[in-house]
Amino acid sequence: MLKPPIRIGVSACLLGQSVRYDGGHKQLAILQQEIFQSFDLLAICPEVAIGLSVPRKPMHIIVSANEFRAVQIQNPSLDFTDQLKQYALKIASESLHGFICKSRSPSCGYLSTPVHSEVKPELGSGIFAQQLKDYLPRLPMLEDTDLSNNAACRLFIEQVLAYFHAQK
Ligand code: SF4
Repeated sequence: MLKPPIRIGVSACLLGQSVRYDGGHKQLAILQQEIFQSFDLLAICPEVAIGLSVPRKPMHIIVSANEFRAVQIQNPSLDFTDQLKQYALKIASESLHGFICKSRSPSCGYLSTPVHSEVKPELGSGIFAQQLKDYLPRLPMLEDTDLSNNAACRLFIEQVLAYFHAQK
């Protein structure tokens, strides 16, 4: 029987792709398990997609003129914000039904990313993840760290299925 084309975007490093700034990955075992086998998991690395190398110098989120910006830590004049936002727009048109985000990432983090501000340090979302949510507010999104919680994992899958059926 053909699988229904339910597509979940996943931060590529969680699927074992060695795309992190340090050349490593953060493979998440649960994504290999049966519960996710009926979905089409689409590996997405926004930082590689905008042309950055592996390895690369790390970036972080700062606040500038009241906006979150993703800049290289060593050289803050290198600002990747606009490219990451543009890439999110492209991914928003890829018929995804959910997204699993790498926590704390300046690109992929969803509500867990450290924001460096002179006023007060806080947590926010990575530029790519926030822009994707802005384009598709109802797209189910959660982070790798939430998948260890069975209830959160089940709820996410229910939300993905509901979103898929709502799109048909
Ligand atoms: S967190 Fe996102 S941008 Fe960073 S390596 Fe993983 S997929 Fe790429």
